[in-house]
Amino acid sequence: MRKKIVAGNWKMNMDLNEGLALAEAINSHYAVNPPDGKEVIICTPFIHLGMLSKLITASGVSFGAQNCNDHRSGAYTGEISAAMIKSTGAGSVILGHSERRTLYGETDELLAAKTAEALRNGLRVIFCCGEVLAEREGNNHFGVVRRQLEKGLFTLTTEDFVKCIIAYEPVWAIGTGVTASPAQAQEMHAFIRQLIEGRYGGEVAAETTILYGGSCKASNAAELFANPDVDGGLIGGASLIKEEFCNIVSAL
Ligand code: PEP
Repeated sequence: MRKKIVAGNWKMNMDLNEGLALAEAINSHYAVNPPDGKEVIICTPFIHLGMLSKLITASGVSFGAQNCNDHRSGAYTGEISAAMIKSTGAGSVILGHSERRTLYGETDELLAAKTAEALRNGLRVIFCCGEVLAEREGNNHFGVVRRQLEKGLFTLTTEDFVKCIIAYEPVWAIGTGVTASPAQAQEMHAFIRQLIEGRYGGEVAAETTILYGGSCKASNAAELFANPDVDGGLIGGASLIKEEFCNIVSAL
């Protein structure tokens, strides 16, 4: 049975105190109400990571980062390595988010290198893919997602690929308030699962967790999560509000 997961992407929000207070509130909630076989991951800015291993104690709850460098160490001023992230006790890292692809020019090839480095250091990778509006309107969305996965992720061996979670995030739905319809989400998730089957076989495809991301909130989460190939969500804005985030987890 593949894992059901809700991951929060805090992006560049929350100073140190605000972030620790939010993490503490989420942890306290799940210490009392365990997430019942589901996994909850909070992906915070780097500044919080070092403090979270003491703070996140509830079972089923873990934390991760939102990016890492593709090199092991050295003269890369301002960068953070996968080994550094791992040393904080973090379990995961988001890679390939559309904001990093667009704003920081991250290519499929760079993401393949980052993914390999994260896995080499024992991190799980939440690998994001998704098309922009013009690509969907041009009926190119399947081709774009196929390319992102083939070049960025399918370079991995089976042994490494099974440590990855995929997040389908249509870029036109991220932070816009416009959500993919449940049918659009299901259609793309089923397509992604087919691609995985073609590359790694049916057993691996059936076990791969595929999250939906893009303006998912407590009020629309249940209908998105009801789809057979949607195994949870990657949540941006709504992950910054404890009640909203926990209600999304409950909807799963
Ligand atoms: C995201 O940035 O991963 C995301 C899904 O954002 P939002 O939920 O705010 O659309």
